[in-house]
Amino acid sequence: MAHDQIETMRKQIDEINLQILELINKRATLVQELGKEKEKQGSNRFDPERERQMLNLLVENNKGPFNDNAIRHLFKQIFQVSLDLQDDDKKKVLLVSRKKKAEDTVITVKGVEFGGKNPILIAGPCSVESYEQVRAVAENHAKRGLRTLRGGAYKPRTSPYDFQGLGEEGLQILKRIGDEFNLVTISEIVTPADLEMATKYIDVIQIGARNMQNFELLKAAGRVNKPILLKRGLSATIEEFIYAAEYILSEGNSQVMLCERGIRTYEKATRNTLDISAVPLLKQETHLPVFVDVTHSTGRRDLLLPCAKAGFAVGSDGIMVEVHPDPDVALSDAKQQLNIPQFNEFVDELLASGLYKDENVATRV
Ligand code: PEP
Ligand code: MN
Repeated sequence: MAHDQIETMRKQIDEINLQILELINKRATLVQELGKEKEKQGSNRFDPERERQMLNLLVENNKGPFNDNAIRHLFKQIFQVSLDLQDDDKKKVLLVSRKKKAEDTVITVKGVEFGGKNPILIAGPCSVESYEQVRAVAENHAKRGLRTLRGGAYKPRTSPYDFQGLGEEGLQILKRIGDEFNLVTISEIVTPADLEMATKYIDVIQIGARNMQNFELLKAAGRVNKPILLKRGLSATIEEFIYAAEYILSEGNSQVMLCERGIRTYEKATRNTLDISAVPLLKQETHLPVFVDVTHSTGRRDLLLPCAKAGFAVGSDGIMVEVHPDPDVALSDAKQQLNIPQFNEFVDELLASGLYKDENVATRV
């Protein structure tokens, strides 16, 4: 074949490619419009019967040289990418994503801004054990100008024989003390059935690491009108963590904060491995406030302060730490909770480092 004949045929093929390109994009535009119409009517976008009809029509009209299977395969690809196109907006740009919302989400509770200008210290006992025990911690908070108190009333424990928490009574204690000292209270809820009840007593609902992929709990949390603090699962990837938060937002609750609390690795020197890079990553990928739990990630008192500094240094919106009036007799996490003087020392050191700044928090004299 002469050289210019090949060139002419190549030109024709290019021409046809461009025609196909124009046609499949024309088709895609129509599919998108159809998708929007279907959404308005509330009908399902994927319709297998319709796909079957389209394939049959194509095969009936196929005159070759492609065989029927090749035609089915080719068109199935076209159908698939068109369907993906319909879902693209929802699938690719998550509600939690910075691409969806560029500015930081700030959650204001009782005048405390989570994700705002000042970083936050979330502190309190692992478990609510008694009114007196929580009150001792809260009184110290009030003296120092700290505003956020945590305490577990429903404790997801490894062993069923360990202290399981005081339940509703624990939430009532938090409510009483929160009112007494004007503190924002945070406590974990483990079952959808308790969410509504909990909203009467506490200001922020925590979803713990073990429940990060309890999808029914996440969906139910998306339907309550309370901020949610979502902790990263023990072995959850960042992607799974982000999707867990998306579950809550997708049900209508956009008041979500994330908490890195260490992940399970082969390392045994610490209770978990604090994934410090998760903080800037989550800050980049999402618009939600991000916290670092130094107690459960390290499980070691001697590492709380340096890891808290690291958290602030990489842009965390706050730190979670456990403090108990007498950790030796604590009913859970006795080993790593700080006592009140140690906690005050911890706060002083953080303030002195310049990494943690809050004009409302008193520097000790
Ligand atoms: C807690 O914060 O009380 C707790 C149990 O932590 P995690 O869910 O991260 O283990
Ligand atoms: Mn604990």
